[in-house]
Amino acid sequence: MDRQILLKNISVPGISSFGPYKSSGGYDSVIKALKEMTPEEIISEIKKSGIRGRGGAGFPMGLKWSFIDKKSTSPKYLVCNADESEPGTFKDRYLMEHLPHLLLEGMIIASYALGAETSYIYVRGEYKYIIGILNRAITEAYSNGFLGKNILGTNYSLDIHVHPGAGAYICGEETALLESLEGKRGNPRIKPPFPALKGLYGSPTVVNNVETLACVGPIIIMGGEAYSTIGLGRSSGTKLISACGNINRPGVYEIELGLSVEDFIYSEKYCGGISNNKKLKAVIPGGSSVPVLPSDLILKTADGKPRLITYESLAEGGFETGTMLGSGGFIVYDEDACMVRNTWNLTRFYHHESCGQCSPCREGTGWMERVLHRIETGEGRWHDLDLLVSIASKIEGNTICPLGDAAAWPVASAIRHFRKEFEFHIANPEIVKDKNHGAIEKYINVRSAV
Ligand code: SF4
Repeated sequence: MDRQILLKNISVPGISSFGPYKSSGGYDSVIKALKEMTPEEIISEIKKSGIRGRGGAGFPMGLKWSFIDKKSTSPKYLVCNADESEPGTFKDRYLMEHLPHLLLEGMIIASYALGAETSYIYVRGEYKYIIGILNRAITEAYSNGFLGKNILGTNYSLDIHVHPGAGAYICGEETALLESLEGKRGNPRIKPPFPALKGLYGSPTVVNNVETLACVGPIIIMGGEAYSTIGLGRSSGTKLISACGNINRPGVYEIELGLSVEDFIYSEKYCGGISNNKKLKAVIPGGSSVPVLPSDLILKTADGKPRLITYESLAEGGFETGTMLGSGGFIVYDEDACMVRNTWNLTRFYHHESCGQCSPCREGTGWMERVLHRIETGEGRWHDLDLLVSIASKIEGNTICPLGDAAAWPVASAIRHFRKEFEFHIANPEIVKDKNHGAIEKYINVRSAV
């Protein structure tokens, strides 16, 4: 369970530069792919590997590639989604900062497989300093014959451009990203048509996340079959998990899928347990847009099995008792966390980032924010909880893009699992008006002691 694929060379001095990267076996996969394999063979290896997209949706990567309309006479594009903006998720940043050539390696092979001769990396605006790192790596790749005309003496040519975003979370949604890349406002498009048929500039396009593309080189070297044996069942391979919150060792970790959540949170190798010897209260395991689970349900499923870090195990129990792997951003809360304040804070974010195209999201996120704020500030009303659940249910599934669901799920799940805490806020306005009230448990304990 400690297999390292993406980060295996992370401690090699100077690994972000071409020389040390190449000497560590870097670009061998490009040589193999371009000189020994056809595009169809590459797609077949990716399919065999069983890898699923690492950006959040978990869609099978090989299947996505096979949807590209190869017969189209329009140019084909590969776009790398580096617009990592999900609260709690910062693993793509780590990859681009330290292993930019691993991303380029994957992009070159993917572009070749898809028939793209121009590809883009759309980088989150706030990651401005990473643009320099990527551009330096791209320049090195050109000067060493891995980009540009007739790569490695083959007939294949490719240019890669870096495009900065302008600070909108919604541009992480693939069609909003394409709109933005075309120079327009980043509004999500109604699907279908999907980008594989009509994407960038109306041409067949594949949009893949940074981590997903970084896996391509290693898969080509080891073979899809071998990759599929790593991990657990339909959750093949390794996954980068960014961990933050009330833990002793926040950071980015590569885990083999199938590791238990308990091992991940408490092992010294990963999060190192809850900081200040506090108790674990709750975890959002997939970036802020997946349902939050209380400690008992994140460590074990409802029927008592250890909860594993896989797409399937985290989702076990549906939204009643389960959650999602999402982008792999673990946000860990200790016993002092106020779930009302945290939920309000997240909702404030989604309301601010809503593009405003559809009314359930535009209006609903605003209403949820206002209602949560009044509960958190001691002005809550008893019907507010039913109102929040009702608003969340009217947003879910009724919007153009997944931001609506992303805003609804944290609210619905927080009320489902921490309803007593919300009710305490409404019943005890004098306590919650204290801005530092934290979790309610301490007040309940103090009262029962008295
Ligand atoms: Fe825009 Fe929200 Fe509708 Fe997505 S769900 S298109 S962010 S209004």
